[in-house]
Amino acid sequence: MDRIGRIAVVGSNMVDLVTYTDRMPAPGETLEAPSFEMGNGGKGANQAVAAAKLGAKLVMVSKVGSDIFGENTIRNLQGFGIDTRHVSVAQGMSSGVALIFVEPSGENAILIVKGANAALSPADVDAAEELLRGADLILMQLEVPLETVYHTVARAAEWGVRTILNPAPAARDLDVGQLASLGFLVPNETELAQLSGLPTGSDPEIEAAAQALIARGIGAVIVTLGARGVRLVTSEGMVAVPAVAVEAVDTTGAGDAFIGGFAHFLTASGDTLAALHQAARYAAHSVTGRGTQKSYATVAEFAEFCRVLDDR
Ligand code: ADP
Repeated sequence: MDRIGRIAVVGSNMVDLVTYTDRMPAPGETLEAPSFEMGNGGKGANQAVAAAKLGAKLVMVSKVGSDIFGENTIRNLQGFGIDTRHVSVAQGMSSGVALIFVEPSGENAILIVKGANAALSPADVDAAEELLRGADLILMQLEVPLETVYHTVARAAEWGVRTILNPAPAARDLDVGQLASLGFLVPNETELAQLSGLPTGSDPEIEAAAQALIARGIGAVIVTLGARGVRLVTSEGMVAVPAVAVEAVDTTGAGDAFIGGFAHFLTASGDTLAALHQAARYAAHSVTGRGTQKSYATVAEFAEFCRVLDDR
């Protein structure tokens, strides 16, 4: 029988402000655009929401600005049953926002303002110690300061809590030496190439690049390859987990669905490979719908998706 995992996310939140325009404005130009949509995002929040929708118990350690977006973000997380006691307000700062412009062709231009995410500090992690040390797993990404990630990895090792780091967006100055006690690193092929300084164009290259990181202390590397699936690399070798074939409608947020799903399935079953197969199904479901958090399946929707897959 699967158990309900307790997962903590130390990471970002963002508000997506999406304007649909017939064409991009030129510098100095004012243009009327047909429509606008607001959405909740940020890699940390997306991964937390994915795991929460699957039924895990979630705590988030994050920072919002002292503006209406911050209040909206906290309400959104609470709507998924996520514990927001440690989502604090950075007075005088803006929330993290992504200003997104989309043309009819799908071409987009995006400006990211990190806002309060840049103020999430090691002290915020220490303030949440009681909840963090009681978690089964701590999940991180790189939309918050690197020193906060290093500190969380080190404290989690002290507490004996398992860790997953999704090194996205790719950070040139990430110090792999600070990640020696990390449980799982989950990069895509581009992030893996940058972290290892090695090519990742083929399976043997992916394995060699991942092994170079494992040699530096990281427990296991899980490489996501879009529709080509996932590779699990441990000191014992590499295992391929294929992607689930679906008609993709919108792949934004698939990586976050995969990682949030993996965190849930891993804490529920304790079986890494089984959790990867389940997470690949969960991410495949998310690409069949539009949007990020709203495209993530609930337990019931995921059960139905799996029933259809098992019947075909
Ligand atoms: P990222 O966006 O972080 O680069 P990926 O594109 O590798 O992440 O996607 C993460 C996972 O989501 C993949 O490993 C795969 O399991 C699943 N996935 C992504 N795109 C598709 C797709 N078109 N069809 C089926 N599964 C997909």
